[in-house]
Amino acid sequence: MAGHKVSALDIPRNAAVVVLTGAGVSAESGIATFRDSGGLWEQHRVEDVATHEGFVKNPELVWRFYSLRRKDALRVHPNPAHYAIAALEEYLADKGSFTLITQNVDGLHSRAGNKNVLEIHGSLFKTKCDNPRCPASETPFDDETTDYDALPKCEKCGGLLRPDIVWFGEQLDRVTEAKAMHAVGECEIFLTIGTSGVVWPVAGYSRLAYELGARTITANLEPPANVQNYREVYLGKAGEVVPMLLANVLND
Ligand SMILES: [Zn+2]
Repeated sequence: MAGHKVSALDIPRNAAVVVLTGAGVSAESGIATFRDSGGLWEQHRVEDVATHEGFVKNPELVWRFYSLRRKDALRVHPNPAHYAIAALEEYLADKGSFTLITQNVDGLHSRAGNKNVLEIHGSLFKTKCDNPRCPASETPFDDETTDYDALPKCEKCGGLLRPDIVWFGEQLDRVTEAKAMHAVGECEIFLTIGTSGVVWPVAGYSRLAYELGARTITANLEPPANVQNYREVYLGKAGEVVPMLLANVLND
């Protein structure tokens, strides 16, 4: 599949827009994901650092790992794709509506200026209690700590704290998911950037938008696995393609 010729999208100021982003947007800022290295993530097995079983087995390792991921994310900068998406939110602010659903946990969209961001897979910069019976397990708090003398413990119950990341095998946060589904259900334009369309349930959002008649658009290095859900397909690096697609917004 060759993809469509990249040219500026015509986006009305009063449009309801949902943007869904994935690892392809972060990659150009230098954020590695486990997919880059055949099931390993920075030399660690995904089962060891990105599942609850791995955390229970070795919480020290998991906290060391996410502390390094925090340091990595704080070292890098948003790229032109992040800034173009932030400009789109600004462009729609008066008459339209805008929701960004991101599978990325690195906080780069917020740093680029986006405000209405649903971090559907959690955030590197939030921490919560791991004890499901503790109320603090429902209320993640902001946390940029990168150096620990000891394992961080919950002030309410004394249990272990954990990164607020949706690990493999875990459910999405119910409230965040409900907000995302609502925005997808209401949108006129659904734009996916830098996601391969294989991680469920988020990969199904484009199907919902498509069936409800939205203008579904994807920009990715290669055609995503769920390419049949998109009316328009643009191939290339997010940092190059997205500013071209959003040229009218950026020149506004
Ligand atoms: Zn607790």
